[in-house]
Amino acid sequence: MADRDAILFLIPYFTENVWGGTRLHDVFGYDVTGSHIGECWGISAHGHGSSLIRNGRFAGRTLREAAAEDPPLFGLTTPEFPLLVKLIDAADDLSIQVHPDDEYARIHENGSPGKSECWYILDALPGAELVLGHRAKTREELKEKIERGEMAALFRTVPVFPGDLIHIPPGTVHAIKGGILLLETQQNSDITYRVYDYDRLWQGKKRELHVEKSLDVIRVPAEDPGKLITRKEEIERQETENRLQVLMEDPHFTLFRLRLKGRAELARDGGFTAVTVIRGAGSVNGLSIRKGDHFILTDACREVMFAGDAELILSEAVFS
Ligand code: ZN
Repeated sequence: MADRDAILFLIPYFTENVWGGTRLHDVFGYDVTGSHIGECWGISAHGHGSSLIRNGRFAGRTLREAAAEDPPLFGLTTPEFPLLVKLIDAADDLSIQVHPDDEYARIHENGSPGKSECWYILDALPGAELVLGHRAKTREELKEKIERGEMAALFRTVPVFPGDLIHIPPGTVHAIKGGILLLETQQNSDITYRVYDYDRLWQGKKRELHVEKSLDVIRVPAEDPGKLITRKEEIERQETENRLQVLMEDPHFTLFRLRLKGRAELARDGGFTAVTVIRGAGSVNGLSIRKGDHFILTDACREVMFAGDAELILSEAVFS
């Protein structure tokens, strides 16, 4: 029984968004149509959209159900699967937003987890940038500038390039801007406070803003954007072919990269590892994998052999 659930392959959940594009179909080859497909929730057990499991005991059912029915299969002690991994295709700018931390979300959002996230940039058109942080020195200044609509002067933008990694701890104002395709790894939460939405209309009306809650949770002064970005050059400096490279250690998750060229064998202590193939093709324990595949190494998977020519992003939950 254990063996058939050692590696669970997933069918993503897709969302349509005002800012979405067509690269999830065009670049990743997903069988999804529409000109505004914004997000592919590849590894999700969230109530707003769960991935489906393709194989094993839970075939055809949601990851959310599997985690609720059998937490130990994922090395969990509670029914809530803690991470969410998405691909995001921004053809246009996303709203400027901020997420609460665990404590604020527990009190103000019905016990939901907060949201820490990170972005691995897969593609960025020349000149692409992100909104990351703000320039206000005090909460009063922040409030005044938002109320007066002085958004351009208030929010910082930074250029980004394919291969860059960005950390977005709770309280960090952020927005993905048009032209960027990225992999997001985050806490399993959908709590977003929208600060500004460029006065756009979606299905005939403006989307709701959450300025008051945003003002509660935005960190003042903001973290230096340089501390939140790890540039591609720094990541590439380590020679890590066929070895797990730690990309980021967040209080809630650890992010790894595996550049596979040939074979890589990993021994595991248990728990789960969420895996997305972002380039190339190969196999895991003899099962074919290719770009766009999302799967979970479960607690039943103690030895894993990857083979092929591919790049994988992996994540594991950290429990405090
Ligand atoms: Zn976010």
